[in-house]
Amino acid sequence: MSERVIPPKPLSFPGGIHPAKDGKGLTEHKAVEKAPLLEDYVVLVSQNVGAPPKVTVKKGDAVKKGDILAEAGGFVSAALHSPTSGVITDIGEAPGPMGVNVPAIFIKADGLDEWSDKLPAGLNWREASADELKSRIASSGIVGMGGAAFPTHVKLSPPPDKKIDCVILNGAECEPYLTADHRLMVETPERVLAGAAIMGKILGVENIAIGVELNKPDAIAALEARAQEYGVKIVGLKVQYPQGSEKQLIYAITGRCVPTGGLPMDAGCVVQNVATAAAIYDAVAEGHPLIERVVTITGDIVVNPGNYLVRIGTPVIKLVEWASGVKSEPRKLILGGPMMGFAQKSYNVPVSKNTSGVLLLGGAEIIQYESSSCIRCGMCVRGCPMHLSPGPLSMLIENEKFDLAGQNHVMDCLECGACAYACPAHRPLVQHMRRAKAEIRRAGKK
Ligand code: SF4
Ligand code: SF4
Repeated sequence: MSERVIPPKPLSFPGGIHPAKDGKGLTEHKAVEKAPLLEDYVVLVSQNVGAPPKVTVKKGDAVKKGDILAEAGGFVSAALHSPTSGVITDIGEAPGPMGVNVPAIFIKADGLDEWSDKLPAGLNWREASADELKSRIASSGIVGMGGAAFPTHVKLSPPPDKKIDCVILNGAECEPYLTADHRLMVETPERVLAGAAIMGKILGVENIAIGVELNKPDAIAALEARAQEYGVKIVGLKVQYPQGSEKQLIYAITGRCVPTGGLPMDAGCVVQNVATAAAIYDAVAEGHPLIERVVTITGDIVVNPGNYLVRIGTPVIKLVEWASGVKSEPRKLILGGPMMGFAQKSYNVPVSKNTSGVLLLGGAEIIQYESSSCIRCGMCVRGCPMHLSPGPLSMLIENEKFDLAGQNHVMDCLECGACAYACPAHRPLVQHMRRAKAEIRRAGKK
């Protein structure tokens, strides 16, 4: 076993907050349970940033587990695969995570759960070429599973003028309540480590690090026990939100700053989530496309919160049932965590490739605040990890001075919510930032 190395002073970034209640104790020690097979799955067609994939099946088609349902709609796109064997019963619409109905493929399972015979054989990643590995990742429909859903093969194809010398895996899981990544690192560290090493091989990079917040000592220990054989360094990070944000993670681990308007590659880095790394390993070593993921179902009102390995296309209501329901009437259903997740209006919204958690909040946890005038206390400035001035920015935006907000770098806003969390006047700062960003993007498209 390699010696456990944690920097004497945990690495971090300037700004940020420490939420008073992290809610992780509800599920952090709950082992991942394999979800039962369902009779019906609803696979949303567009689960990636970029072009939506093109549906290649039609009503009545028989499919096997892993068969292609939709081909990538361009380079920045990701293929979709069947989560089980069965029959396509409809190509229609279903509730999407952004609150509107979106195109979806409906599958009636046959109960056999048979793998497709069209899937490629597993590769020995140490012997395969970088092009073979990248092509396998692209054909397996892998996207950023930490929330961004950016196609992974695109991130692994930086332009020739961008010199990448560092691969960073995000194992911070800084969002309160979520523990899916935590359990993945504890229970299958070798998949995460191998996925990281595969990315290093594709990019020709030897400097590979996994950043994990220090509130997950068991995950750090599990990764460090095998890290040396994969040439990966495990870095303990201060518990601070939003430690898992790409720019903050790069700064904490390398000391480099991503320039304003830039990408991690502008700082010589490629950042991926640990679940994405595990999916890469499955695609390369097993030939399995991305059809399942670990999801945390949690909240104080959930009877038996836990972590489940679920198929993509599983309606959220099934997770609530597996967790034995709720103790009291939920007031809010959120996909993701409480800071950056999205409130839902339907329990039929299905799990997508980037669904890390399902959070149910009850009466005691939902407090309706009246927003009041800014008292210029500066708490939002202190909390902002992007060195913005959210209070003054929000006043510009309220007065529809979007150009001025743009000149004051509102486009750099991560929408992390740290400012709103810190604001004693309960100003809707994130909503203001989102509005300004949308207006600036809209104006740019005219
Ligand atoms: S939401 Fe935007 S403005 Fe507010 S703290 Fe996060 S990055 Fe800063
Ligand atoms: S935290 Fe709220 S009240 Fe304080 S300066 Fe920022 S916007 Fe104003």
